Amino acid sequence: MDNITLEDIIGSLRNPPSEGRKRVITEAYYFAIEAHKGQKRRSGEDYVQHPFAVARILAEIGMGGKTIAAGLMHDIPEDTQITLTDIEKKFGSEIAAMVDGVTKLGKIRLRGSHEEYFLENLRKMILAMASDIRVVIIKLADRLHNMRTLEFNPQDKQLRIARETMEVFAPIANRLGMGEMKSQLQDLSFKYLDPENYTLVQEMEEKHYKEKEKYVIQAISEIEIEMKKEGVTIVEINGRAKSLYSLFLKLQKHDMDITRVYDLAAIRIIVQEVADCYETLGIVHKKYRPMIGRIKDYISLPKPNGYQSIHTTVFGPDGKIIEVQIRTQKMHSEAEFGIAAHWIYSEKKKKNWKDFLFKTKKGVPEKEIEWVKQLREWQNEIGRDDEEFMQSLHIDFFKNHIFAFTPQGDIIDLPEDATPIDFAYAIHGEIGNHAVGAKIDRKMVPLDHHIKNGEVVEILTSKERKSPNADWLKFVKTSVAKSHIRRELKRIEVLK
Ligand code: MN
Repeated sequence: MDNITLEDIIGSLRNPPSEGRKRVITEAYYFAIEAHKGQKRRSGEDYVQHPFAVARILAEIGMGGKTIAAGLMHDIPEDTQITLTDIEKKFGSEIAAMVDGVTKLGKIRLRGSHEEYFLENLRKMILAMASDIRVVIIKLADRLHNMRTLEFNPQDKQLRIARETMEVFAPIANRLGMGEMKSQLQDLSFKYLDPENYTLVQEMEEKHYKEKEKYVIQAISEIEIEMKKEGVTIVEINGRAKSLYSLFLKLQKHDMDITRVYDLAAIRIIVQEVADCYETLGIVHKKYRPMIGRIKDYISLPKPNGYQSIHTTVFGPDGKIIEVQIRTQKMHSEAEFGIAAHWIYSEKKKKNWKDFLFKTKKGVPEKEIEWVKQLREWQNEIGRDDEEFMQSLHIDFFKNHIFAFTPQGDIIDLPEDATPIDFAYAIHGEIGNHAVGAKIDRKMVPLDHHIKNGEVVEILTSKERKSPNADWLKFVKTSVAKSHIRRELKRIEVLK
């Protein structure tokens, strides 16, 4: 394994480093070396190589100097003689608070059933997001590096870590729109959780992607020629194979028949402007016949996690089926780095990053990832520097918004002061209509109880309840609950 140096970390920064940024990274780098002196990892390398690797990941995804410094020191309070107070004295309270956040996230005790443990973990991650989302991003980078070096651990630990990564960390990365992070976490976990299928899918992909590769290369050069003719500038064009785990999920839907997976080989075209995306689509379709019903415009209708792109499947050279993805550079950064793209653009494009980043559109599917959408919408309104962003995130956003959990670990997004009846209707109309009681953290609560952020709510239902109670209208907070209750009361009135 290659040793990571300070130059590697600074060289991985996505933005040209300012003097201040270089200084804080350099100081934290040497502070970490001193703190972890003499410590080794299971792999035999110096322990400090782990925080170095975490810092490099953070630099690659575009995080700023303070976050990278916190990444360099994230294991110090837990594993060395140096305390959080020492870090605070030298680096100030903002960095120390991040280190503290990561340390606390790490202290999840393994007890109770797997489900309880899973829930606890998820809950901690989400509550950490509420205080400083950078803590969660450091934790994801930490987990990514631990997954990359998992082979040096005993098998039972490998399985536990891999399972947790698949069930908690990858979904969180996904919810934050960090596509690249999600894919890597999934692929690494997949390898340990299901080695047989992992090898199978890997071999299938290698074989079929190899076959397709020459057509991909040919198509790329043909598209380049057409784009030049039409005067549309290409920022980047390349071919890519699907990530192994997402391929596995697709294969399962298609009886493991790889010839039915059309996006195994995809060409990604990155252009400058949104208008260029549509022009490029036209150019591609003029050259290659599109497959009917396979054009997806996620630009005018982004995916719930904010993903934007145009996808089309075409009959490329020799009539071979190839998927083409078209997006702007900004959409590309957002797709790869998600919420972390905020830091990249807040510095690089001070003028107009607000215009495109985290822009939400009407007609986006509601519900599921409402909170990330809101997080983004809300980011849109605030200033561009780190500190202001974090402070307002902390103070405002989570104030009028809470997340509650079902006993299965599903997240239900609710307004502040929402009640178990709101919660019940948010899950399903029938659950609301037949609700007779509620438990929070296993204790009975009244139906007009105000749910608090992070609580696990269990709704008790009964067939004996024939209709919702009209009094519920006096305390419910969501329009979903109100309309359900009114509709049901009316329906019953008619029957009488
Ligand atoms: Mn660590």
